[in-house]
Amino acid sequence: MNKISALFGSMVFNDAIMREKLPNDTYKALQSHIDQGTPLSMETANVIASAMKDWALEHGATHFTHWFQPMTGITAEKHDSFISPTAGGGIVMNFSGKELIKGEPDASSFPSGGIRATFEARGYTNWDPSSYAFIKENTLCIPTAFCSYGGEALDKKTPLLRSMEAIEKQALRVLHLLGKESVRRITTTVGPEQEYFLVSKELYEKRKDLIYCGRTLLGAKPPKRQELEDHYFGAIKPKVNDFMEELDQELWKLGVLANTEHNEVAPAQHELAPIFASANVAADHNQLTMEMMKKVAGKHGLVCLLHEKPFAGINGSGKHINWSLATDSGENLLKPGKKPIENISFLLFLSAVIQAVDQYQDLLRVSVASPSNDHRLGGNEAPPAIISIFLGDDLLEVLEAVQEGKTEVPPKNRQMGIGVQVLPDFKKDTTDRNRTSPFAFTGGRFEFRMPGSTTSVSCPTYMINTIVADALMNIADKLEGSSNIEHDALNLVRDIYQNHKRIIFNGNNYSEEWVTEAERRGLLHLKSAMDACPHFTDQKNLDLFERQHVLTPVEAMARQEILYDEYCKLINIEALTMLDMVNKDILPAVLIYVKDLSEVVQSKQAISEDVPYEMEKNLIQSLSAACDSLYKKAITLDQHLLEVSSMEDTREAAEYFCQTIIPVMKEMRVVTDELETITAAKYWPMPTYGSLLFS
Ligand code: ADP
Ligand code: MG
Repeated sequence: MNKISALFGSMVFNDAIMREKLPNDTYKALQSHIDQGTPLSMETANVIASAMKDWALEHGATHFTHWFQPMTGITAEKHDSFISPTAGGGIVMNFSGKELIKGEPDASSFPSGGIRATFEARGYTNWDPSSYAFIKENTLCIPTAFCSYGGEALDKKTPLLRSMEAIEKQALRVLHLLGKESVRRITTTVGPEQEYFLVSKELYEKRKDLIYCGRTLLGAKPPKRQELEDHYFGAIKPKVNDFMEELDQELWKLGVLANTEHNEVAPAQHELAPIFASANVAADHNQLTMEMMKKVAGKHGLVCLLHEKPFAGINGSGKHINWSLATDSGENLLKPGKKPIENISFLLFLSAVIQAVDQYQDLLRVSVASPSNDHRLGGNEAPPAIISIFLGDDLLEVLEAVQEGKTEVPPKNRQMGIGVQVLPDFKKDTTDRNRTSPFAFTGGRFEFRMPGSTTSVSCPTYMINTIVADALMNIADKLEGSSNIEHDALNLVRDIYQNHKRIIFNGNNYSEEWVTEAERRGLLHLKSAMDACPHFTDQKNLDLFERQHVLTPVEAMARQEILYDEYCKLINIEALTMLDMVNKDILPAVLIYVKDLSEVVQSKQAISEDVPYEMEKNLIQSLSAACDSLYKKAITLDQHLLEVSSMEDTREAAEYFCQTIIPVMKEMRVVTDELETITAAKYWPMPTYGSLLFS
């Protein structure tokens, strides 16, 4: 075995280890629990727990934890040691089936969106055996779902698991109707591409906005940004290379299939893409990836910024969610095959996605709504806030042909000569690359490009799963009892295309014309998070979640409440940080510069009235006027924060942050950036964009 394959998964209690360490009947019982949901006896759980503990101890673990994903967006863990005292004053290392299956963390410190108020503070974590346990920093981490005493989901994992079941159920119905009886399982597959920035730790520590908010709240444009496009796929700097190497190693140990690493469009921006996995595992692994990125960066004198928009004026970071469905025999249900027009299963699944995305544009928009992502969506760097689907010309032609009742599309010459003799001709991709579409078919999968870099994979994925499950249910309902399935299915594809083709757009989504065209088509344009969030609980959406058993109305409302609450908290922190930087750092620094300039004027005057000091006078004038205006705006901001702090209704408060507070912060930024441009470098109290991005 080579070094990497020995390293890969070495810290994971994976299938191979389970086969080796568990008695055969225990292993089988666990598999059937995972596959068919057959209950797991406490006896079996005890055997698994004991084997897990022995393996963990062999690998240096001293503690265990139920690892879960509360609504904070990060993971939570509470460590317990394996030790338990013995009568003689010694200890034994213990870990029982009960401890494996269920934990009882105090739920009161995690966001619940009001659910908790009506129940006890207690919450439960339940083992999720479909995601392997692993060892991180001498702790055995057991992936778990987190719910309230009353059984309501309080985490990101639960709705994802529920949605995977929902879509599996409906997809199986469709496949069985098509005669594919042998398919027993269907998995949602997800490959999330993660973008991030790396900046120098030393410089980072000198910026309160980076420390408290993860992004710069101010900063004048440096002379160079990304205009030369010399960073994308460029050679990786040695320091960054070392970081990437260590990151890969750490992730491989945890069984994360970290695959490609490259520089992104913006200076200091990079991307990591793993090989896709089951959605649940992909979500867990993406959380681990983000955590490891931060940790490993620190060891290299760097800080990893995962924020959607760390720097104004240059590209922000996203998390593209590549999504598809696979059968237990490994068949990809979104693979068009050589003749998509004859692939009725593919056409039905494609239609389901088209119908789902058109009917639930609002939910997809909600799934990526956050104040930080608002800086990205709609800018000329990320997809706009309007949802549409890119299919590519070939597939569009297929659907057009179906609509016209044709059964064939003319074959194409896909050989592409590039006019250079030494390079062999290669087959042109069946879809051209369209990087502007929010939801693009990229051959065998859809790529949802709107999610922000900090977003958990779970939320956008459970939304896609749920809406597509519902469309598949619709399809299955209509085809049930059909005596000519091929014929009826094709007719259904035609109807769905006819009714929902407005959602398909193959052009440039960044263009102004598209905004007008989308409006003409009646597509939703929910510009900001605050425009999108109210739709979470539209009646049709509450009904959908309930129908597919993904969220109860109470859970959906709680999640919406959490979005509003998070919105308020994040902007509040940003506003306070801005006030702090302006009042304590920027104004005092500029005043010293003004004082020094005034002394220059005085010295000049002392020499002779003839020495010109027009320049100093003008500069003092501009600096003082800007300081004055900044000071006044700071007072206004302070008053607004006082005002909002007394608002009880979270939605009302969030609206106030959006409509009243953010605009003042924007105005303040204009002034601080102007001050930065005219203040001598040695007086400016924090590292500039230039130094952060190009060091
Ligand atoms: P691109 O730059 O074209 O977006 P990348 O190679 O950076 O491509 O990322 C593609 C991502 O899509 C990878 O994470 C890959 O594993 C994932 N992917 C490929 N096929 C599937 C599939 N069937 N289901 C889910 N994800 C997939
Ligand atoms: Mg991509």
